[in-house]
Formats: sequence, C-alpha cells, structure tokens
Amino acid sequence: MDRLARVLAIAGSDSGGGAGIQADIKAITALGGYAMTAVTAITVQNTRGVTGIHPVPEGVIGAQVRAVLSDIGADAVKTGMLGTAATVEAVADALAEAGPDIPLILDPVMIATSGDRLVADDSVKAIRTRLLPRAAIITPNAPEAATLTGLTVTNCDEQVEAGRALLDAGAGAALIKGGHLSGPTVRDVLVTGKEVFVFESKRLDTTSTHGTGCTLASAIATGLAKGLALQDAVETAGQYLHEAILHAPGLGSGHGPVDHGW
Ligand code: PLP
Repeated sequence: MDRLARVLAIAGSDSGGGAGIQADIKAITALGGYAMTAVTAITVQNTRGVTGIHPVPEGVIGAQVRAVLSDIGADAVKTGMLGTAATVEAVADALAEAGPDIPLILDPVMIATSGDRLVADDSVKAIRTRLLPRAAIITPNAPEAATLTGLTVTNCDEQVEAGRALLDAGAGAALIKGGHLSGPTVRDVLVTGKEVFVFESKRLDTTSTHGTGCTLASAIATGLAKGLALQDAVETAGQYLHEAILHAPGLGSGHGPVDHGW
C-alpha cells in the first residue's frame, strides 16, 4: 500500500484545465500517485465548449506510451479521449507490448460536458474490439453504455444489464455511472464477474461537472495502482469526486471544473 502508485493517463488535453489529461494529472497527484501522460489530441476549449480538436499523430501516441512503460513503468493505465479508430489501434498495440498485467481503466469518452462530440464513430467500434477485452474496468456514463451495448440505459436495472453486456463483451468489470440519469439520488452500478454493487450519492445541484468522468476514472486508477481491491478503489474514487464537486471553485461561465484541493 505504501508503494508509489505510477499511473499513465492516455487522453486528450483540455486547454481549460477542467477535463482530459489536466484533470487526470490533478486527480492522480491529489491522491498521492505519480502521473504520466500520453496525449492523444489537443482540444481548444474552455468551460463554454470545444472550438477545436487537433489529433496527435498515432505514431507519436504509441511512442509516448512505449517511452513511459519501457522506462518508468506503470501500476495502472487509464484511457480517456481516443478520437479515432487509428488512435485506439495505436494505444491497443502499445499496451499489448506491455503485457496483460497492468490494469487498464477504460473511460469511453464520447461527448464533452458542453455537448460537443469528441470522438468519431469508428473509434467507438475500435474501443469495443481492441480495448474492452483488455480492460480491468470500463467506466461509461449511461449514454455511453447505451451506445456501446445497443441497450436502453435509463434506470438501475438497465445499468446492471448494460454492465453484464460489457462483461460478456470482454471487460473485467463495468461501472455504469448514473450522473446523466434523473432523480435526487445518483446510482453508480459496479458489475463484476461475481457481484453487483450500487453506490448511491445525493445529486448535487451544480454546473461544475466538467471533468467528472476523467476525475473518477483517474481516481479509480490511482486506487488500483496503490493496491486497493476494485470495489474499494471505486468507492474511494466516488467519495473523492463527490468532495471535488462540492468544493468546485466556480470558474468560467459554462460548465466549470471540480476542485482537486488547490
Ligand atoms: N477528455 C477531454 C479532452 C475533454 O475535453 C473532455 C470533456 O470536455 C472529456 C475528456 C470528458 O470530460 P468528462 O470528464 O466531463 O466526461
């Protein structure tokens, strides 16, 4: 438990600092981990929206992953925005070389909090075939789970069904997040090979939700990198995110960032 938790985040840059690789670095660091990065795209954005997306060449993405893993190593890898099928392929190829032992936390990012689309359709298909079977856990929100499975995901029972479908498709576990569903209680449903856990929290009335998915996945990755059991890593990460939203600094005029203890 005392080892330095090395976490590699493979994700897009958010110039506004609220989501993407910036959120990953902040969450991993705040939780005591050592953050490394492979940037997949540079987005031009602030709290109001995304005005530009500039993919990093696939070869450069793979090279970043290989450079880090062949020298520093990692105790967990977290993926976020993988904008094209070619990006997914490059990441999957580089991770395959590292072997199956490093847990992969797969956050299937599709749409920014502002509503702007971040990935192409072929990327979603490639995520299903190339990365899902390698993932220790996949962390979709309800709309992402629906897109990945073709199922309707509007309540807790359907979250469980979607989770089971993702396990059938090869994931080690699935956390189907309930933040995009309605109601005063948010239910995040963790489906593992053996059990189903439901984590409940009070819905917070806030617009400071930019980067929440990235933050949660990075916090789970840090927990796993520290040696926590999956259920404990998910629960601890959820508590961290809840506090981070509660103490959000209220920056910008759109969907603002959460707090990481600065
Ligand atoms: N990755 C990047 C680069 C982004 O810009 C965003 C959202 O804007 C996301 C991921 C997903 O953000 P969230 O954590 O709010 O789901």
